[in-house]
Amino acid sequence: MTSFVSIFFHVADLIMCRRQPGIAIGRMCDKCDGKCPICDSYVRPMTLVRICDDCSFGSYAGRCIVCGSHGISNAYYCTECVTLERDRDGCPKIVNLGASRTDAHYERQKLG
Ligand SMILES: [Zn+2]
Ligand SMILES: [Zn+2]
Ligand SMILES: [Zn+2]
Repeated sequence: MTSFVSIFFHVADLIMCRRQPGIAIGRMCDKCDGKCPICDSYVRPMTLVRICDDCSFGSYAGRCIVCGSHGISNAYYCTECVTLERDRDGCPKIVNLGASRTDAHYERQKLG
């Protein structure tokens, strides 16, 4: 059961941005290079990943869309995800839970 629990938490942690993609191309770091951002598959990369303006702006520019490390190559959706049209669901950049908690904190400060 240990492996089931770890998979559950892995998925729960990954929240994608899903905003309308712009012209910016998603990037991958040396660790995530070649991985499909939707299904984590390393086989048959097919379509270049586009990310939204917010995710390609400022400090996010050139960052790995999966883990936020320094990006070294372009990100691709795998053949299967393109066939299932998962590549049309919007910006696939991972928005981690830590960042959204920080935003909520700032919101409270503004209100208080
Ligand atoms: Zn895929
Ligand atoms: Zn985005
Ligand atoms: Zn990475």
